[in-house]
Amino acid sequence: MPDTLLDRVSADAATGRDIHDPATGELIGRAPEATVDDLDAAVARARDAQPAWEARGHSERTEILLRAADAIDAHAEELARLLSREQGKPLNGPNARFELGACSAWLRTSATLALEPEVVVDDGDTHAELTYKAVGVVGAIGPWNWPLMIGIWQLAPALRMGNTVVLKPSEYTPLSVLALIGVMNEVLPKDVVIGVSGGRDVGARLASHPDVDKIMFTGSTATGRKIIESSAGNLARLTLELGGNDAGIVLPSADPQAIAQDLFWGAFINTGQTCAALKRLYVHDSIYDQVVDALAEIAGQTPMGNGLDENNVLGPLQNKQQFDIVNRLVEDAKANGARIVTGGQPATDLGPLFYPITLVADVADGVAIVDEEQFGPTLPIIRYSDIDEAVASANRLDVGLGGSVWGDRDEARAVAARLQAGTVWINSHGGVHPMIPFGGVKGSGYGLEFGVEGLKSVAVPQIING
Ligand code: NAD
Repeated sequence: MPDTLLDRVSADAATGRDIHDPATGELIGRAPEATVDDLDAAVARARDAQPAWEARGHSERTEILLRAADAIDAHAEELARLLSREQGKPLNGPNARFELGACSAWLRTSATLALEPEVVVDDGDTHAELTYKAVGVVGAIGPWNWPLMIGIWQLAPALRMGNTVVLKPSEYTPLSVLALIGVMNEVLPKDVVIGVSGGRDVGARLASHPDVDKIMFTGSTATGRKIIESSAGNLARLTLELGGNDAGIVLPSADPQAIAQDLFWGAFINTGQTCAALKRLYVHDSIYDQVVDALAEIAGQTPMGNGLDENNVLGPLQNKQQFDIVNRLVEDAKANGARIVTGGQPATDLGPLFYPITLVADVADGVAIVDEEQFGPTLPIIRYSDIDEAVASANRLDVGLGGSVWGDRDEARAVAARLQAGTVWINSHGGVHPMIPFGGVKGSGYGLEFGVEGLKSVAVPQIING
């Protein structure tokens, strides 16, 4: 009899995909490897289950989803440990336990949020109301960096609105996502949420499936483009949360010591493997050296290592592909004359996928480490003297997920309004909230998640006129 969440979701050795711990290389388990036929069968089951789920009505769904959040809380520690082993992120710090806490918090908020009908005209002659219904079957496709939290971001509003969901986790982190779905399914009716783990072919089939009405996708811009192409075939509505290369601008009015901790975690939360992390930092010449020194001091004091060790708050890169990207970008920066303040070489003493916090100073726009998303524990810090130049630098790339401005609040708000990004934080970077809409502009995608706007994105509007 299976006695752990991992046992419950593991496949046998003959058919499963081996999943290794990125910190140690150890085999954790084997994820079921679905075929395209399996995916088709899952969509058919989700389609059959949808009308009854929608017919339960909002209050009954609220009650069931709150119980699902309780079930997540009851299994939070076991899920956090599995997540830590599979994804690499430490239990402590803004990592695995934090991610599980966010899962139940997001689910609770979505469960109790209402999308009320809106009277759009009521003039004596005409009475028209805008109402919202479920879309139908939602396909959710997720990445490997925050696999559980992003999974819940996709599931919670979709379920709240009466949709059923087929979720395909990243092939790098399927076990923890399937385990989370297993826990939710202790409470949810059959086939309301179906997890299907498999490769890119399964994701591509889900995105192009004729019986899927909506795709919620979080991942790279390249895959996002393919999903847009698929939607020409099935006309699925899309929410696309894609890559970013968030800029932060530090104004001369900022206090380097006071902002250093928040700058550090804005960049290095989840060891930098975060969509809306600080990935390019523009610092005014007058305080440049102080900011670099303050960040270097924190880097030196922040422990990195195996995630199951309670002391660590930074972990490995999740996979070799991402490790190679970080290594290549740092080597290229060195070749272009940048100054490596801390790190700069793989931390092979910790394990093959560890790379230390690497602060890269005296670097400029046009160097790959500035222009490309690193998605890892490295931060280029660029000197500026004129705010117009810094704003132009921040806006010059074809992505716009987040951004931040640091310093006097009124000055910072004026600069924020000039940035091309879906969210601009003042004196912080990357914090999200279940009631505050979140989404990108330009190549970072379209559609909003969270709050009432997030519910609208998994609903179809209907006008009742008369
Ligand atoms: P990815 O695009 O390689 O993979 C994401 C998912 O898409 C995986 O489940 C994969 O199997 C699936 N997939 C691959 N090809 C597909 C296809 N043709 N059709 C449908 N599905 C397909 O991204 P990744 O490497 O897992 O994630 C890292 C990227 O995600 C980074 O660029 C990061 O910035 C971005 N990201 C964005 C957000 C956000 O909210 N904007 C959050 C996290 C990550």
